[in-house]
Amino acid sequence: MISIATADLLTAWERGLSQSSASRRLLMLLATAYPELTEEQLLKAPIGQRDGLALQLREVLFGSQLISVAICPFCTEQLELTLNASDIQVASNSFLQKPLQLQLEGFKLEFRLPDSQDLMHIETINSIEEAHNILMRRCLLSVSHNDQACDMSQLPETVLQKIEAAMSEADPQADVQLDLHCPACQRNWLATFDIASFLWSEINTWAQRLLNEVHLLAKAYCWRETDILAMSSMRRRMYLERLTQ
Ligand SMILES: [Zn+2]
Repeated sequence: MISIATADLLTAWERGLSQSSASRRLLMLLATAYPELTEEQLLKAPIGQRDGLALQLREVLFGSQLISVAICPFCTEQLELTLNASDIQVASNSFLQKPLQLQLEGFKLEFRLPDSQDLMHIETINSIEEAHNILMRRCLLSVSHNDQACDMSQLPETVLQKIEAAMSEADPQADVQLDLHCPACQRNWLATFDIASFLWSEINTWAQRLLNEVHLLAKAYCWRETDILAMSSMRRRMYLERLTQ
């Protein structure tokens, strides 16, 4: 069960502000919410398992209903989406990452699932193709063809696609696709739901609102920030209501 103090979450948000990496920011939040996990464990957790933790944290902080916005790629209509955490939460078997194996077309492959370190490594690469190749190269642990070691560049596209499919199957939470329908133009499309950016954006809004509350209460009552943050949000709100009466 996640139990996170308001002041600790605010500190994690503040630290995250100085990070340009979305993965790094998410890991800072997760490290605060899951103190039983080491930094190494979080860094090396497969992306889907990491995102599962983020979704659990989101539910504890803000509830199970997620409201998001999507833009129709065909007519640019803006759609408001109401999602339930259980709709996008995929059950996960274990937190440990074991290498996966695949044998096909004479190739024998061993690979692991992408983790946050991999994502951080490719975040600044503009070319999707190059980022994809680097990610694959980092995750492939060994490649052989008819028992002769070979290079990833020798793998045919069909084999690479099979590796990706095996990765998705082993870590389904890593790629959450929403099946969307536009009421304006009646077309359908698949959109990726990214919990890392969604949660960060919500925590950013929460932190700004909280700082505003602290500012108003400290100014009116001369209370210390520590004491104001230790109050429940309901109590802070009740004092703020009294200030406007
Ligand atoms: Zn549309």
